Amino acid sequence: MTHIITRACCNDAACVPVCPVNCIHPTPDEPDYLTAEMLYIDPEGCVDCGACVDACPVGAIVADYDLPDEMARFEEINARWFAAPGRTDYEHEQVSPAKREWDVDGGPLRVAVIGSGPAASYAAEEILSQRGLDARVDMFERLLTPGGLVRFGVAPDHQDTKGALDQFARTLRRPTLRLFLDVQVGRDLTLEQLQERYHAVIYATGAMSDRPLGIPGEDLPGSHSATEFVAWYNGHPDFAQRTFDLSGERAVVIGNGNVAFDVARVLASDPERLARTDIADHALEALRRSNIREVVVVGRRGPTEAAFTSPELIGLAQTPGLDVVVRPEELVLDDATRARAGDQESSISLLKVGLLEELGTTTPSSERRVTLRFLASPAEITGGDWVDGVRLVRNRLVEKDGRVVAEPTGDEEQLACGLVFRSVGYLGSPVDGLPFDEGRGVVTNEFGRVIADGEPVPGLYVSGWIKRGPSGVIGTNKRCARETVARLFEDYLGGRLRPPAEAADVTDLLPRLIDLSGWKAIDTQEKKLGREQKRPRVKLVEREGLLALAQKEN
Ligand code: NAP
Repeated sequence: MTHIITRACCNDAACVPVCPVNCIHPTPDEPDYLTAEMLYIDPEGCVDCGACVDACPVGAIVADYDLPDEMARFEEINARWFAAPGRTDYEHEQVSPAKREWDVDGGPLRVAVIGSGPAASYAAEEILSQRGLDARVDMFERLLTPGGLVRFGVAPDHQDTKGALDQFARTLRRPTLRLFLDVQVGRDLTLEQLQERYHAVIYATGAMSDRPLGIPGEDLPGSHSATEFVAWYNGHPDFAQRTFDLSGERAVVIGNGNVAFDVARVLASDPERLARTDIADHALEALRRSNIREVVVVGRRGPTEAAFTSPELIGLAQTPGLDVVVRPEELVLDDATRARAGDQESSISLLKVGLLEELGTTTPSSERRVTLRFLASPAEITGGDWVDGVRLVRNRLVEKDGRVVAEPTGDEEQLACGLVFRSVGYLGSPVDGLPFDEGRGVVTNEFGRVIADGEPVPGLYVSGWIKRGPSGVIGTNKRCARETVARLFEDYLGGRLRPPAEAADVTDLLPRLIDLSGWKAIDTQEKKLGREQKRPRVKLVEREGLLALAQKEN
């Protein structure tokens, strides 16, 4: 008997240290971790103790005898990872990491964390969970609700992934953490004011803009970024007033990462399925009136290079009332691609192709569908007053500087549609006062230390997407935060952090205080409304309403 990791795996690796036989891989210390779609349990190593089940924040681990039918595929997927040479050569015993020794004078280490999403929460937890370290964290969030990407990025039909919020709530409840909501650094407080009051400041503000495509027609009415659509259906207050014309039958999503899949699923699936989630009410209403029946997801490279992950493909294919359609001719691999993809038995990219091939043999039976296209790039978004289609150019794959890239063949195709979503990656925006790498959309940094003129800026750090760019899943931010906080600790122990010069508390600078109790009032109300409608929560979106609730408690 064995345990199996399933679709919702968040890669935070909370399961790894609790496994007595070290059979969960890749661990964050192993090189494959950064590219792995998920973590896997070695069926030959697992002793069925179940410790990992309790540790998993998103309920992704199941015993094989309890594996639901829709997750059956993951038994093979977990085993497949270990079929590759060398992957079972791990120590079959858990080695506890060496404990850090804390021997510091001079009162508590004071850290300001900016942001309250996964990157911020993991960073705060990493600081406050050190045994023997006297530390205090103040967390500043510009909105009235904490959670960042978990609240405003994770798709509403992925409630299991949103379970990460419970874990972050435990961090928020630590007596050594203070949460300041509705406080924007740069507007309500300056970085200098923070630097006077804290040993260190960690920016974990994410990446909320979108990468431009740079093609004609990109800004036509009816062409939107996926980021704004995601924020809209998740009830982000800055995006709640957006409108999307869903009167046409076909929408096109450009890019085929997991965000593209989220957008396609939300757009194409039966809204009554979403009615049981915490999707924003304004989005649910609009989707109920939607005429969209087909969403075409366009990937510029082939199926082995596609950015979506196998777990998300399985999830998409299993969405009730929705067909996933592929063109078998676009799944044929050339010899070079097949050689690169590796061994048939263990390759995860060939698993993806296998899953797609299976979809190619099923006959569509629903009126709603997501069509996955490969090897096609948008050359132009066409239309006059409104989008009427996408001019696609067919690609071939070539190797360039060690990367497999798409090269246009010259063959073109016009794909008619009434709506386009550009889902080609999020992009970080410059942060006032910090050096910025425009090309990568990140604050210039080395392992989380902010770097200006080639030198680390004492006491300034970054974590999450604003540090490394928009990659990875929720739990990837844990490893990222650990790396940043390790540098912060090195600097603290090395005497490189200036102690706070200003004795006055930061609260003296803030016009009003909305803290954890304010969020609890909002959370309680949202969940109460949710219970009445058999939903996990009903999100409150209007700032005035949120503020009134939060202020009652402060
Ligand atoms: P992504 O995974 O980086 O995908 C971006 C997509 O855009 C790729 O298909 C990329 O193609 C394509 N693209 C980029 N530039 C393009 C261009 N000029 N023309 C055409 N296509 C272009 O980004 P994402 O989907 O925004 O996701 C961000 C991160 O969040 C990812 O790590 C993702 O896994 C994660 N996420 C996870 C989940 C989940 O687990 N459920 C959900 C949402 C997001 P190439 O591959 O050819 O570059």
